[in-house]
Amino acid sequence: MEHTKCLIIGSGPAGYTAAIYAGRANLQPIEYCGLQMGGQLTQTTIVENFPGYPEGVDANQMMTELRRQAERFGTDVRDGAIVKADFSRKPYVLTTDRGAEISADTVVIATGASAKYLGLEDEKKYNGMGVSACATCDGFFYRKKTVAVVGGGDTACEEASYLAQLCAKVYMIVRKPYLRASDIMKKRVESNPKIEILYETNTLGLYGEGGVEGAHVVYRKGEADERKYDLPIDGFFLAIGHKPNTDVFKGQIDMDEVGYIKTQPGSPRTNVEGVFAAGDCADPTYRQAVVAAGTGCMAALEAERYLNQ
Ligand SMILES: Cc1cc2nc3c(=O)[nH]c(=O)nc-3n(C[C@H](O)[C@H](O)[C@H](O)COP(=O)(O)OP(=O)(O)OC[C@H]3O[C@@H](n4cnc5c(N)ncnc54)[C@H](O)[C@@H]3O)c2cc1C
Repeated sequence: MEHTKCLIIGSGPAGYTAAIYAGRANLQPIEYCGLQMGGQLTQTTIVENFPGYPEGVDANQMMTELRRQAERFGTDVRDGAIVKADFSRKPYVLTTDRGAEISADTVVIATGASAKYLGLEDEKKYNGMGVSACATCDGFFYRKKTVAVVGGGDTACEEASYLAQLCAKVYMIVRKPYLRASDIMKKRVESNPKIEILYETNTLGLYGEGGVEGAHVVYRKGEADERKYDLPIDGFFLAIGHKPNTDVFKGQIDMDEVGYIKTQPGSPRTNVEGVFAAGDCADPTYRQAVVAAGTGCMAALEAERYLNQ
């Protein structure tokens, strides 16, 4: 069986940064990229908030350069996904989607998280052209414009409040006749003059030439007073939750009820020694590339220290 001192799972900012640090520490890491080489940022166009790029940077270019940087320091970057993990014995044994087994002294899990979508065809059609699942990332592109946020929980309220600081008008499209958010968040959106909450409303589709110009919505779907209408908007933000890509590690490592890997506060250490989690798969709060890169660095440094012990 092939053996490595350090196996990195995932090729987003967390995985590649871990690979750069582990490579420079001479751990000769092996990195599996998974189905989405380059991670979530490959779904977007320009990244404007990653430090070091005053004019912004093409997201795909940034991820390609991170890969080159990882390879320059000796990381063996591979196609393929990890489909099984056994952390019950050392060295740990991971299985790839081609059936190969690989043993590892340390493992950095950097498998990210995926935003949940409504499942509309138009979400795919307008992805990056008016549809976004990240207000912090894309809100700036909608300054002084009109946007809608889908969702009625704390995250949706937070995203709507954030967007209200930038946009002329923010609609919240809420399926239920109430918000599922905490009282403080409810009050914040209800009292914001820029936010209008559309209760009992579902999105049927989006329309627009070359980008989102509006949403087809329905009020009280299936009821006697059902009403369909078009809502003119420039941006459509999903805020109905994320799913961490951690199913492969279920039963092997501690996770919260959603599937985020639990780490010790301020550290990428998990409950399994020598196994570290970095980036969005362990971060229900920030979900930003620079944070993922930072925790990827921490995970590699921890792996190195663990091996030196
Ligand atoms: C459309 C969009 C725009 C965004 N814009 C910005 C922005 O402007 N600025 C910003 O800071 N953040 C932005 N973000 C958020 C940012 O992309 C994430 O915070 C960041 O990518 C998280 O990095 P990560 O390395 O933790 O995970 P990800 O980037 O999600 O990468 C996860 C990696 O793990 C791999 N993987 C998953 N499962 C397996 C497995 N079983 N085996 C092997 N590999 C696996 C995947 O293939 C992928 O390579 C945006 C997100 C989206 C969706």
